[in-house]
Amino acid sequence: MKARGAVIHQVGGQWEVQDLEVSEPAEDEILVKVMASGLCHSDDHFVTGDIPVNLPMVGGHEGAGIVEKVGSRVTRVKPGDHIATLFIPACGVCKYCVRGQSYICNNGAGMETGMAMDGTARFHDTDGNPIGGVTRLGSFSNYLVCHETQAVKLPDDIPFDLACLVSCGVATGYGAAVNAAPVRPGDVVLVMGLGGVGANAVQGAKHAGADHIIVVDPAENKMELAAGFGATAAFTSIDEARPLIAQLTNGQGVDVTIVTVGRVDGDIIGEGFDTVGKAGSLVLVSVGSHERSLSVSPQDMTNLAKSIKGVMYGNCRPLGDIPRLLDMYRTGSIKLDELVTNRYKLDDINQAVEDMHAGRNIRGVVVHEH
Ligand SMILES: [Zn+2]
Ligand SMILES: [Zn+2]
Repeated sequence: MKARGAVIHQVGGQWEVQDLEVSEPAEDEILVKVMASGLCHSDDHFVTGDIPVNLPMVGGHEGAGIVEKVGSRVTRVKPGDHIATLFIPACGVCKYCVRGQSYICNNGAGMETGMAMDGTARFHDTDGNPIGGVTRLGSFSNYLVCHETQAVKLPDDIPFDLACLVSCGVATGYGAAVNAAPVRPGDVVLVMGLGGVGANAVQGAKHAGADHIIVVDPAENKMELAAGFGATAAFTSIDEARPLIAQLTNGQGVDVTIVTVGRVDGDIIGEGFDTVGKAGSLVLVSVGSHERSLSVSPQDMTNLAKSIKGVMYGNCRPLGDIPRLLDMYRTGSIKLDELVTNRYKLDDINQAVEDMHAGRNIRGVVVHEH
């Protein structure tokens, strides 16, 4: 099967749109006609080398599309089904899946290779050289092959360019507030970084009943957007937000700070941790370097009973939570249309990345052609 996709060949490079050959699905795999893919910041971490992966690799993990073909043992979906991709599989039977923690399913191991679970590639270039797919997906290609446990069936009436966002950014941000923090009614919440994940952390905090949701983002254009998702105040720096935080919390600090900046480091974690009050939590969603670095006061952590929580995939169970989030979109409980700032053709993917870096987008979405 011929396909066209955006591939990263070297750390620090640009996405190159090229012709690809997509393999036949194995017995437990599906072939997906990818209709849309969100531009999640995580894909950029593969480009910068913050998340080391084997290159070359087809980018994209926030995808939605139509099942074209299924292997002989596939039972979860059938041809014609609309699906969203899961960047972590939900095998359903490993230790973590049976504990309700499919966001850390054991079958996620080895996904940095980009190879299918049998260790071989599902993409090849026109010379026959193997190419991996980000998180074993590669939704920057207009066709992909993935394991059936990396797909969730969608209702047919949700547009693909909205559904794709739910597969990563929405689930991750919403879940960070609702599942991981968890935010409680009346809380004062700070969200650091208003991108495709941060906007959903705001929506989640609002839904969980927070009284005050303060957004900090250096991009001026995001101040107004923040209010649309439920923020009660927005500032371009934590220094500017500090007087309001002090006023709302009797000088003690917020109940929950959620870190959803594009790239996190130890200093940002320290800055966030210092905004949290007694028994409060810093919820760390962003990805950064794998180097060891954390500038927090151990004394504060103990004496003020503060915690730092890492969260993956919003601590969601995507097979159940993604359909539930889409039901909430239908009833107006969460916004999806407003998350999409710009739609791009695959050929314009580097422009989309530039817009993301410049803070122009909440989310950019690549809409594929076939
Ligand atoms: Zn993502
Ligand atoms: Zn599992």
